[in-house]
Amino acid sequence: MSMIDNETFRLETRAWLEQNCPESMRTRMVAGEDVTGGRKRKSTNPDAYLWLQRMAEKGWTAPTWPEEYGGGGLGKDDFLILLDELQRIQARPPLLGMGISMIGPTLLEYGSEEQKLRHLPAIVRGDVAWCQGYSEPGAGSDLASLRTRAEDKGDYYEVSGSKIWTSGALHADWIFCLVRTDAQAAKHEGISFLLFSMDSPGVSVKPIEMLNGQSPFCQTFFDAVEVPKTDRLHKENQGWSVAKRLLQHERSGLASLASADQAGPLQRIKPSIPLAQLAMHYANSRQINDLVLRDEIIGNDMRKQAFTLTQARAVAESEANTPGATTSIFNYIEAEYVKEQLELQNRIRGTQAFGWEGDSFTDEEISMCRLNLEAKSISIAGGSSEIQLNIIAKRVLGLPD
Ligand SMILES: Cc1cc2nc3c(=O)[nH]c(=O)nc-3n(C[C@H](O)[C@H](O)[C@H](O)COP(=O)(O)OP(=O)(O)OC[C@H]3O[C@@H](n4cnc5c(N)ncnc54)[C@H](O)[C@@H]3O)c2cc1C
Repeated sequence: MSMIDNETFRLETRAWLEQNCPESMRTRMVAGEDVTGGRKRKSTNPDAYLWLQRMAEKGWTAPTWPEEYGGGGLGKDDFLILLDELQRIQARPPLLGMGISMIGPTLLEYGSEEQKLRHLPAIVRGDVAWCQGYSEPGAGSDLASLRTRAEDKGDYYEVSGSKIWTSGALHADWIFCLVRTDAQAAKHEGISFLLFSMDSPGVSVKPIEMLNGQSPFCQTFFDAVEVPKTDRLHKENQGWSVAKRLLQHERSGLASLASADQAGPLQRIKPSIPLAQLAMHYANSRQINDLVLRDEIIGNDMRKQAFTLTQARAVAESEANTPGATTSIFNYIEAEYVKEQLELQNRIRGTQAFGWEGDSFTDEEISMCRLNLEAKSISIAGGSSEIQLNIIAKRVLGLPD
């Protein structure tokens, strides 16, 4: 593509966004105003649906997916321009969730034509919310030890067992789920990848309450759930390769990149003013006198910049829309960055960082205190930091086992 084409696309995109992005969608994301799709959980802001509908019509909730499946059909250059223009106006993501960021890209690679046509346009429109049935009480880091079984019943499977830490299961319409279809085979070779409705008879969900009082994830139970074989993704007993590819999409952190930094952990931990200003505010001073703190704030800002640029470069350089094992680097660095940023905020706020309730704390201090407790989990979700380091050592650096 020539520079001239790029420039035309940039100007057209800018003009379109100017006209179509509602004012309230150009502000900091407010909890509860995001759209994760599906029928069961609604955003509290009507503008969020206007924004979703307009972006979905252009296919820009999934800008790089082919147009025949509802996507925007953008090449990488145009995709990066779109991201840039969205960031320029601080636009909120029109749609979040595991449909767009995980199962959609995986369906594009492994789905049959019928499966793609059935699921992808519904994901683009935000009609269906998905959840991830991977972890089990006895299978986390060692995921391939999973025991939820799917018995062959002719043209369907009968699924029984349980999954844990299923984020968003309470509001999800569909689940992508790893099951054991061959108990005799080596553990990586007896796994299949199934898709089924959370409203299927035999599915039940129990929320798990976290330290901060919220229940984003659940334990999910399957009691003889019938799943047609046509809802299996890829071949029987070859679900492990699909499962690994999906994790690369999850770990790429592209969901937060693609949504102009308005989604995901990086956005949620941001204080309402930059860290340096926050430090001056709490010290009641016009400069940061603590030189060590000053250094650390600058270091943290630089790490954030380097991280975002490296992510964008890796996408630009990769053949597929998501790079491969290098995504473990993003997952690891993002988790470490987020934890470091929160520690800095705690130091800056001092005792004001630990407000649970009451008039002596601002709303931001209280919500940050709760987020602090939740954020400890970021280096576990999507595979723990230790597991990411193992993958980086083996698959990126090629070190021996
Ligand atoms: C916020 C959040 C959301 C989640 N959402 C989902 C979801 O939607 N769906 C889903 O299926 N799962 C989800 N999970 C589960 C998550 O994938 C697992 O918690 C994670 O893979 C770790 O598994 P585990 O909890 O069983 O810990 P374990 O595997 O028991 O690990 C315990 C500790 O041992 C370390 N360890 C284990 N093996 C090794 C090794 N080989 N080398 C070095 N260290 C090792 C780990 O790093 C960890 O510190 C979520 C988790 C969190 C925290």
